[in-house]
Amino acid sequence: MSYFVCPHCGERIYFFGRGVGERVASAMGVPFLGSIPLDPAIAKDSDSGRPFVVDMEDSEAANAFRGIVAKIEAIRRDISRDFTSHGVSLPAR
Ligand SMILES: [Zn+2]
Repeated sequence: MSYFVCPHCGERIYFFGRGVGERVASAMGVPFLGSIPLDPAIAKDSDSGRPFVVDMEDSEAANAFRGIVAKIEAIRRDISRDFTSHGVSLPAR
């Protein structure tokens, strides 16, 4: 959770500072995957056992989540390609 979108004015409020995730990822030498906004509806859906990306599929949080998943899939493809080029195959997902 990186920021909260004010329901009154739409301003983004960065609880932990803006760009902290990017800086931490850079310092650790790992890819920055993205920022998911804090949304009370995520907690509500999670408590009911439903993935928030189903009930809130057009929300900013769901879009951010799908973006992160796409980056993870791309990284996995790259890793798989690297292993394959060295004669090792990874199990299918
Ligand atoms: Zn506001």
